[in-house]
Amino acid sequence: MSKVKYYYDPDTLSYRKIEPKKSKRYRNIFLFLAASTLFGFLGLTLLLNTNLVNTPKELSLEREVQNYELQYEILNKKMEQMEQVLTNIEDRDNNIYRLYFEANPIPEEQRKAGFGGVNRYKSLEGFNNSEIIINTTRRLDIIQKQMVIQSKSLDEIALLAEEKEKLLAAIPAIQPVRNEDLTRMASGFGWRTDPFLKTRKKHWGMDFTAPRGTPIFASGDGKVTRADNNSSGYGKHIRINHGHGYLSLYAHLSKYNVTPGQKVKRGDLIGFVGNTGRSEAPHLHYEVWKDGERINPINFYYGSLSPEEFESMLKFANQENQSLD
Ligand SMILES: [Zn+2]
Repeated sequence: MSKVKYYYDPDTLSYRKIEPKKSKRYRNIFLFLAASTLFGFLGLTLLLNTNLVNTPKELSLEREVQNYELQYEILNKKMEQMEQVLTNIEDRDNNIYRLYFEANPIPEEQRKAGFGGVNRYKSLEGFNNSEIIINTTRRLDIIQKQMVIQSKSLDEIALLAEEKEKLLAAIPAIQPVRNEDLTRMASGFGWRTDPFLKTRKKHWGMDFTAPRGTPIFASGDGKVTRADNNSSGYGKHIRINHGHGYLSLYAHLSKYNVTPGQKVKRGDLIGFVGNTGRSEAPHLHYEVWKDGERINPINFYYGSLSPEEFESMLKFANQENQSLD
């Protein structure tokens, strides 16, 4: 109940009741309510903004956030290690593997390209921890991209290695007859005295002395293109196409062990030494062709000879003696 107020009326010499105006009473009520709302609101805001009062749920959430931050740091450390390993692989890729197989190195910019310009992390913006999340995500994206490029590069290297292996198997790289003590070679490639004309003439192959019937071996993988007596001077001879521009020729044979069109492997028995065609004594005349030119076969024996043996063979091959043709 509100207090009843009185005043003294000198005219009537009595106390009279003060009747409060209705509008004033409503205004008082309104002011009171407004003031209490304002204070209540201020008090609440103050409470929420201080760390003095935290609910158990808030405390648990805070601990969780701290844990996330720690885990992000650990993840970043791990990524740093991955980056180092990856950089090491990339270096080896560029400076050893790609170099060895004559592929161009992949430039650094290309390995890490595609992360400038457009902001691809817009959806991660606007949070307290946006920075750490965006940085970590970007870092991981770059690593991912590097891995894809590295993997593609290794695919390419694997292909090149396979090709190289085929090439190495195809190159006519062994001597076509057994020649353990290197006594078989009679004449090398170059200017030699012609056994029939006794004049100086270029000798386009290597002569190996051997008794009739000595086995002759394919000097590299390939396909027999000819095994016939239809080429002037060579007598019964075999030609093998090794691909990659290489061809080998074996002349003055007594017998064939292959037929045209047959595929052969390095070391396969293809025929036997004889004295057919333009030949002075039983021997094998051996030629190596590269892109249509006859080249010195001696440069291909390195794989099957020790350095000393190669040296001795080279010395002998360079002697200007008479060829057996
Ligand atoms: Zn010859």
